[in-house]
Amino acid sequence: MPTSALIESDRKHLIHPVASLRAHEARGVTILESGRGAWLRDIDGNELLDAFSGLWCVNTGYGHESIVRVATEQMSRLPYATGYFHFGCEPAIRLAEQLIDKAPKSLRHVYFTLGGSDAVDAAIRYITNYYNATGRPQKKQFIALERGYHGSSSVGAGLTALPVFHQNFDLPLPHQHYIPSPYPYRSESGGDPQAVIAESVAALRAKVAELGAERVAAFFCEPIQGSGGVIVPPKGWLKAMRDACRELGILFVADEVITGFGRTGPLFACEGEGVEPDLMTVAKGLTAGYAPMGAVLMSDEVYQGIADGAGTRAAVGHGQTYSAHPVSAAIGLEVMRLYHEGGLLANAAAQAPRFEAGLRELLAHPLVGDARSRGLLGALELVADKATKRRFDPALNLSEKIASTAYRNGLIFRAFNDNILGFAPALCYTGEEFGVLFERLKKTLDTVLDAPEVRAAMA
Ligand code: PLP
Repeated sequence: MPTSALIESDRKHLIHPVASLRAHEARGVTILESGRGAWLRDIDGNELLDAFSGLWCVNTGYGHESIVRVATEQMSRLPYATGYFHFGCEPAIRLAEQLIDKAPKSLRHVYFTLGGSDAVDAAIRYITNYYNATGRPQKKQFIALERGYHGSSSVGAGLTALPVFHQNFDLPLPHQHYIPSPYPYRSESGGDPQAVIAESVAALRAKVAELGAERVAAFFCEPIQGSGGVIVPPKGWLKAMRDACRELGILFVADEVITGFGRTGPLFACEGEGVEPDLMTVAKGLTAGYAPMGAVLMSDEVYQGIADGAGTRAAVGHGQTYSAHPVSAAIGLEVMRLYHEGGLLANAAAQAPRFEAGLRELLAHPLVGDARSRGLLGALELVADKATKRRFDPALNLSEKIASTAYRNGLIFRAFNDNILGFAPALCYTGEEFGVLFERLKKTLDTVLDAPEVRAAMA
């Protein structure tokens, strides 16, 4: 099919996730065709350095022959096995064992999903079931962070605190509440780590007091907020929030859909901070995007409460046809091997200082107000005025300008609406590739800075 026909057909029929449908109709689709390592090629033959691992998921990089091999072998042997009722398959059992072996010690049981949204949805359903089953049906209020992202399920999108996920969707629901993000760059305390942590803990305590601890089920958070603009809290924040939840008698859920699988250094961000959550959601890096899969991991206490509540005869009514899919699980096993024996975690740890230094150097650029990162997850926050941290007027549509300029320069990253540029390079990046990333990024920022309307906005 010629490219123009594909674009036309896409425009007519395909609804794209989280896009302005009208803007997409006008703009048309960008079609990607192949990938190798950290590099993508589009349908016009342009070579692009992917600094976002697809959508923070292709942590291994593209084109791993060993992943293709295990997927093909599993497809030939058994392309599908239901996990329903009492059936199962070897790859899913082995992957569950590996996850439990490597996850924080508090987590003992795994339910596999198709991605992150349904992992969050499953977590919410299991928590609801747990409290009902253990005789505390009044514990139904959920607390999450402003700017948080917890996927797009009907209920999970209410814990997500980004306006476009609520607008016209009748969200949030009355039992969903938020507290401010731990956002050092924009915190009232000027970013002092201990003050940022104390503010968050106080906000959680206040919200629980307002709702009544006996009515609060859980606190959900990303260890580093991704889609909200890569908000990196101070080290110690996650532990403080975990400890506060324990003290307040509410469940602590770590949504590690982005931060899991080496993105921030250790396999899980919780591990890096010595945090043991009650539940944890994962996806993305679990299969490095080679097939859809997510999971919710839970403590023995939550599992036993649910199991006892249903007794020996009644089913726990939560399931999907493709839960614990054998091909995705086989891919997950190979991806886990690549993280560890394949050296990806070690490479990411070795390259992280180069990544951090590259971002920090750009603080000298007139557009850059903040540079932040942990491991290979980072962001630049652009501002119209560094002294006041004033944001650019959204009417300038600067994010779109930056993303399209970067694309022309052969670089892909995520330009969020409020002019935060998010980066999540694959764990296989070489030093040379980081050199290319920062050279193309600087060139992009310089071009954008030269635009008369940008200069005028900064005056
Ligand atoms: N939770 C977090 C923290 C995420 O970043 C995402 C996706 O970006 C999700 C949940 C939803 O995952 P999915 O897009 O696989 O449904």
